[in-house]
Amino acid sequence: MTNGGGPISGAPATGSGVAGPINAGLRPAICHNCGGEKAGPLVPCKACGFVPTGEDRPIAWLFSGHHLEAAELMEAAERIRAGERPDPPSALRQAARTAMGALPLLDPSGKGLSRRDLVGVVVGSLLLTPLVGIAVWFGWREDRPKAAAQALWTSLAIGGLVALAWVTEQVAEYLS
Ligand SMILES: [Zn+2]
Repeated sequence: MTNGGGPISGAPATGSGVAGPINAGLRPAICHNCGGEKAGPLVPCKACGFVPTGEDRPIAWLFSGHHLEAAELMEAAERIRAGERPDPPSALRQAARTAMGALPLLDPSGKGLSRRDLVGVVVGSLLLTPLVGIAVWFGWREDRPKAAAQALWTSLAIGGLVALAWVTEQVAEYLS
């Protein structure tokens, strides 16, 4: 197995000579295809050439220093080399996607709100005003009625929550 002689360096690992030392400061990763070490979760694997794309990206992220401790990475690498196929639960993959900030379009056909649009509406509604959703709804109501409705309801729901939080605060203040 070639290790590529990458920039990963550090104190020699104690014991197990399976993998080279993993320096946690570099946010290293292991290739979830072959168990080889990589400098980062999304870079090509020097050992097998595997490049994580699509659904493999969040999985690759989970097998990196972003998610696992160095010791856990070593353990995972050994198990993958031994033939185990990684299959993280969908909730974990979703958490990885969120953490990566690489939110894929939910509906490329443009019928529904993309994740990015939804996040924009949520953030806009929280930071600015629920009018953001109403504005989006107004702009999209003919071309993208479904997305427009989603934006509207998201905004209204957040507006409702904000109002509820405000009322709760007022009541709490009144009672104290
Ligand atoms: Zn590999």
